[in-house]
Amino acid sequence: MLARKSLGQHFLLDSTITDQIVLYAGNLKDCNVIEIGPGPGGLTRSLLNAGAKKLFVIEKDDRCIAIVEQLKELAEGRLEIIHGDALDIDLLTAVPAPRKVVANLPYNVGTAMLIKWLNAIYSGKEAFESLTLMFQKEVALRITADHGNKDYGRLSVLCQWLCDCRYDFDLPPYAFTPPPKVSSAVVTLTPRPKPLADVSKEALETILAKAFGQRRKMLRSALKGLAVPADELLKKAGIDGTLRAEQLDVATLGRLAKIYKNCKE
Ligand code: SAM
Repeated sequence: MLARKSLGQHFLLDSTITDQIVLYAGNLKDCNVIEIGPGPGGLTRSLLNAGAKKLFVIEKDDRCIAIVEQLKELAEGRLEIIHGDALDIDLLTAVPAPRKVVANLPYNVGTAMLIKWLNAIYSGKEAFESLTLMFQKEVALRITADHGNKDYGRLSVLCQWLCDCRYDFDLPPYAFTPPPKVSSAVVTLTPRPKPLADVSKEALETILAKAFGQRRKMLRSALKGLAVPADELLKKAGIDGTLRAEQLDVATLGRLAKIYKNCKE
């Protein structure tokens, strides 16, 4: 089967690697596991062998659907194949809880999928037990970066605000067929019982867009143009206006956003 670039197809054909990803996802025996893009089924096979209670795979490419159908015998009734675009499918409706997502994501839409799942987590409906996901390394670094790190930004804050984010391991391009241009990494996100700061996502996103939009600027300049004057906001939050956004931890940015929302109302 010829890999389709438009579908971000870089396959893992070595079961040692797919078994390793599954190990990082923890116990699957009590969960409905969701795999986005099973491709030729390497990771799918590892998930079934690890005893996933039920495995739901979502795949866009009909050629892959035909291959994964062949795993039905191994699955003994535990495999459900959904032919469609994972971006269009509401996982909370399609798959009953408790849910774990395990996937080697297509790079071109991986971040968009993650943002969609973060929205589901924010909705507070106990959306996922965990998500173990392969991204290009640069994205994995952004998801897990701590404040003060050059990779720390809006994605880090949104992910860490809602989830405990763990960097699992790296994979070089040659681990994939065909090899991508960049390295990859697996991360596991485990939703927190409640977000790190008690603030609306809308207010947090407004503050993050401003604060990291011009990340080299001091906060007292970067936060200009909001509905509340930057100096007043920073003073109320007790934050030194000469700092830059990347120097503030997630809880502090959350607190800043909450104060912004309160002042605005
Ligand atoms: N899991 C396989 C593996 O590890 O070898 C394949 C991973 S490959 C990086 C990404 C897979 O996602 C491909 O099979 C591709 O066809 C599928 N895919 C791409 N975009 C998709 C979408 N929007 N919805 C569902 N599947 C998609």
